[in-house]
Amino acid sequence: MSTRRKTRMYTCVVLGFGYSEDSSLAHVWFVSECGFSTPQNALRDLALQMYGKYKANNAYQKSACCTAFSKNSPDFKFCPQCGKSIDPSLDFDEYNVWLIHMTAYSVDEWGPSTELDGWSPWVSFWDVIKAGEGSIINISQSEFCLIAALDPQSVDEEDRQQLIEYQENNNLDFENLSNFIDNPEH
Ligand SMILES: [Zn+2]
Repeated sequence: MSTRRKTRMYTCVVLGFGYSEDSSLAHVWFVSECGFSTPQNALRDLALQMYGKYKANNAYQKSACCTAFSKNSPDFKFCPQCGKSIDPSLDFDEYNVWLIHMTAYSVDEWGPSTELDGWSPWVSFWDVIKAGEGSIINISQSEFCLIAALDPQSVDEEDRQQLIEYQENNNLDFENLSNFIDNPEH
């Protein structure tokens, strides 16, 4: 059986941040090399890549003193030498703040685009327009959407419980990402 109907592929995610009068004026868009058959699949993939990038660059560069101490004294929460937290799990409040400031980062601050496998923020506005309305997913409150789209089973084990609690406390539903999608048909 042949079909003439073209399968819709989502390749572009436009991220808006904040809520109501606190919304950021600027938006950030990411374009994927491969297309996704549903907005949910695209968001889940982008969310996981973003989480990986954040972890690689931010919180978990432990100093030698913390690493040595946490090995010997796993029950302690702070390093007695430098005073930093030695809890290895991700603080999702801090991650949320990092996400919400995305519109302000420079190219240097953002880092190489290769850190997000298949997703690039270095695409011109005209490339987004050319991709066409049907391939664009427009997201509001992306700082929450990108945490809602994280499957607890996909994150590092040390972050799993923190993520589950954060999603529960903020009413973030992995199964119902359409709450964040502004496209009229979703
Ligand atoms: Zn330390």
